[in-house]
This record gives sequence, structure tokens and C-alpha cells, in this order.
Amino acid sequence: MSNEHQLMPGKAIRLEAMPTRAKSFHDDRGSAEREFFELRDELAELQRRVYAEGEHKLLIVLQAMDAGGKDGTIRHVFRGVNPQGVRVTSFKNPSENELAHDFLWRIHQAVPATGMIGVFNRSHYEDVLVVRVEKLVSKNVWEARFEQINQFERMLSETGATILKFYLHISKEEQAERFQARLDDPRKNWKFSPDDLEKRKKWEDYMAVYEDALNRCTTDWAPWYVIPSDQKWYRNLAIARVIVDTLRELNPQYPKTTIDANSVLVE
Ligand code: ATP
Ligand code: MG
Repeated sequence: MSNEHQLMPGKAIRLEAMPTRAKSFHDDRGSAEREFFELRDELAELQRRVYAEGEHKLLIVLQAMDAGGKDGTIRHVFRGVNPQGVRVTSFKNPSENELAHDFLWRIHQAVPATGMIGVFNRSHYEDVLVVRVEKLVSKNVWEARFEQINQFERMLSETGATILKFYLHISKEEQAERFQARLDDPRKNWKFSPDDLEKRKKWEDYMAVYEDALNRCTTDWAPWYVIPSDQKWYRNLAIARVIVDTLRELNPQYPKTTIDANSVLVE
């Protein structure tokens, strides 16, 4: 199963050359939204089966620059799923206790159990992204992490997890518009932090470390998808397509019981 936004192991990409907008022939918001709503209903049904069957685990990793749309993706794509079967984990600045452990310690605890879909809002990739740009650890520490991440993800995959990693690719101009909207709308003010502007000044540095992480951690068992995300409606559709395609392939089924339903009398 291949997808136009999926990266291939051994085929390095340049982020600069990757689109942040839908191709023009896809540029039809109405039909994109219709398809998205259908996929979202299908996702809800497939998730019910995953939960009931208790065989599969799906791990979805979301990474993006600030205002890249991680929160909106979670809100839109997962509307309608049973909250009992989906767990979202947002990884923030590590606590003192988390920093006293290896970088994958807090991640491993949040990995989905069988029957569950786990969504990571930021992830272990922060440990090869922000820490590089902000120089929080030395080169030999972050350099070793690419292979550590690949092997960790391999282990998860070998023990039954299906892993999908999405980089929500927005342009610097789109980020400016979204920051401005956060400043203009009192209901969105809380989403804005002055720290976001500091990071924006280092946009090119962030692009460089993202590119490196995407290229070095694209494996057969845990592919990255670079999703054009300037248009939220296209982003939602592109991500829903990948998730639904993946779940269709896993083909979860409601468990058959040995109970003969006709012979049971409910009094
Ligand atoms: P929003 O996009 O809505 O602002 P957010 O994901 O940026 O949401 P914040 O609370 O604003 O959430 O930021 C979390 C911060 O934690 C980010 O700046 C991120 O880079 C940082 N962070 C996450 N993991 C790590 C890590 N392992 N090491 C250092 N910083 C981290
Ligand atoms: Mg933020």
C-alpha cells in the first residue's frame, strides 16, 4: 500500500521541495470535505472493531511547527471515535523526573495497548528536534538517538504495533497568519506564547533538523508522511485517508462468541 505523501526508506527528501498545499487538481474543498466526512464515519466504525477485537494497536505520531495543526487534526479526525479506545498523549517540556530517565522512558509508557489507538501530540522526535536547535544536549547524545529511535520503533512494530508518523508541513507565511489569528481572536489568545516567536526566528534551523529526522527515521516498519497542511481541509483528508487505509488493511473484526444467541433467554 503506498500513498503519495509517504516517504520511502533510502530516498532522502528536501523539505523545501515538498508542497505545503494540495495539488491544484485536488484543490476542491467541497468534494474533499465530503470524502473526509465519509472517511471519518468509517474510521469510527473501524475503531470500534479494533477495540472489540483487542488484537491490534495503532500508534499515530504527530509532529509540526507551532500552529502546524496538531490539535486541530486530533479534534477533527477523531471526532466520533469512542474515547475509551483512543488515548491522546501530549509531550511537553520534560519534567525533572523524566529528564532523570532515558528519553524513551516516558514515551514507552504511553504506547497503546492492544485494542487501542494511541495518538502522540509531539513525541520522542522532540528529542532529536528542539534539543538540537536549542542545544539542550550534546551532539553525541542526539546523534545516537536516530538509531535508538529506529530500533525502539522496530521493537514496537515487532510486538504488534502499527506505526504511522505524520509531519504537518506548513509554510512560514501560513504560520504567521495563524499566529496573527491567535492574537486577534480573544478565544484563541491562550494558544499564543511569546516563545513561539523565538522559535519562528529559527525557522530554517528547525526545517533542517526536521528534514534530517524525517530522512533518518523513515523505515519500513515506521514510515513518515509529509502532509501538505496549509489548508486544514486537505490536511484532515490526507491524514484520514492514511489512517483508514491502514485500518482497512488490518481488517479488525467483531469477535465471534460461542454463545448461541437464539438459545439465550433474557428474563
Ligand atoms: P501548541 O501548538 O498548541 O502551542 P504545543 O505542542 O506547542 O501546542 P506547548 O505546551 O506550547 O504545546 O509546548 C510544548 C513544548 O514542549 C514545545 O515547545 C516542545 O518543543 C517542548 N518539548 C516537548 N518535548 C520536549 C523534549 N523532549 N525536550 C525539550 N522540549 C520538549
Ligand atoms: Mg506551542
